[in-house]
Amino acid sequence: MTDADDDGTLRPATAVTRLGRHPRRYLGAVNTPVFRASTILFADAAALADAEHGRYQGLTYGLHGLPTVTDLQDAIATLEGGAAAFAVPSGLTATTLPLLALAKAGDHVLVTDSVYFPTRRFCGTTLARYGIDVEYYDPLIGAGIAALMRPNTRVVFVESPGSLTFDVQDVPAIAAAARAGGARVVADNTWATPLYCKPLALGADVSVHAVTKYIGGHSDVLSGVIVCNAETRDAMHRIWTDLGVTAASDDCFLALRGLRTLATRLARHQASGFHVARWLAAQPAVAEVLHPGLPGARGHALWQRDFTGATGLFGVVLKPGPRAAVDALLDALRIFALGYSWGGFESLATYVPPARLRHATPFAVAGPVLRLHVGLEDPDDLVADLARGLAAYAASSPR
Ligand SMILES: *Cc1c(COP(=O)(O)O)cnc(C)c1O
Repeated sequence: MTDADDDGTLRPATAVTRLGRHPRRYLGAVNTPVFRASTILFADAAALADAEHGRYQGLTYGLHGLPTVTDLQDAIATLEGGAAAFAVPSGLTATTLPLLALAKAGDHVLVTDSVYFPTRRFCGTTLARYGIDVEYYDPLIGAGIAALMRPNTRVVFVESPGSLTFDVQDVPAIAAAARAGGARVVADNTWATPLYCKPLALGADVSVHAVTKYIGGHSDVLSGVIVCNAETRDAMHRIWTDLGVTAASDDCFLALRGLRTLATRLARHQASGFHVARWLAAQPAVAEVLHPGLPGARGHALWQRDFTGATGLFGVVLKPGPRAAVDALLDALRIFALGYSWGGFESLATYVPPARLRHATPFAVAGPVLRLHVGLEDPDDLVADLARGLAAYAASSPR
């Protein structure tokens, strides 16, 4: 557990520097070292016998929670107001494990149509194979989700905002209807991080993160974390133990190191993201900016109500143009690199194919969609880079 003065009341920028740190336990070292261990030795036969009968208090095996892992778990659980957290090897494990933990054969689960694509793929393959009925709902359905609840609906999955459409969901209304129908609510909170949204306070039971993104922050670690309330903790602990999907200590070390600067990095991602988004909104080649923090943008009112900040990931809808012009834009960029993932210090751009936007419900946009991750570079260099890209777009579009 965390130190006595770190009870969840610290301001975010202070909390991220203190939570999950115990220098006095580790020779005074500021950061929890990497513990690499499979076997954990018992002091004597009596201790071994205690372990045999479930009475042993300490760690019995490396898979069940080395200190580098538990320090990360405790820090994130405290930041999100959860009862427990479980570190897993990827963000995808974090989104899929709660579905396995909370639904069983014959159950029905409702998943937002704006869900992260690999989560959708898991629902359509593995969940379907295990006899779980998955239905996709309009992300903007709000309280209307009550009409989709069935007697066997066990889980409602939300992701707000969606990482391609940036749809902001009315999570409190959806969670209230889900709970009234006896279902658990799982929220993918990767975009907002534990600092800018608290899904458990909005009514979710479980909040998951790709630590790979902002918490890791440097595009060099794959990891995830699952935060649970008291009602879902035991089911999650069961499946985490049964499947043996503990995150590696090395990755948790990097995640904890990233966490120390999260508040500072996010403030910069946010400010630069707004700077770039406002500039884009004023460009003649841009039809729409999908940034919920911008007044007048889709989802802005709900974002204002439920979030305390915006990160650096948002979408841009261009005025209609051919795919070749989009490719010319991307190839003209020198600072924005082309790549998946986001949350690192570097700026990234990708083209979003229309088929990836939504499947079950329509998402109307005027033209090609790009996704931008605004990194920690000087925002004026980023604007100059995008100006180069938009000039290439105009030059390759038919007049
Ligand atoms: C990247 C991402 C994940 C998965 O994270 P990985 O560590 O890449 O598996 C899950 N949800 C969202 C919203 C993401 O952006």
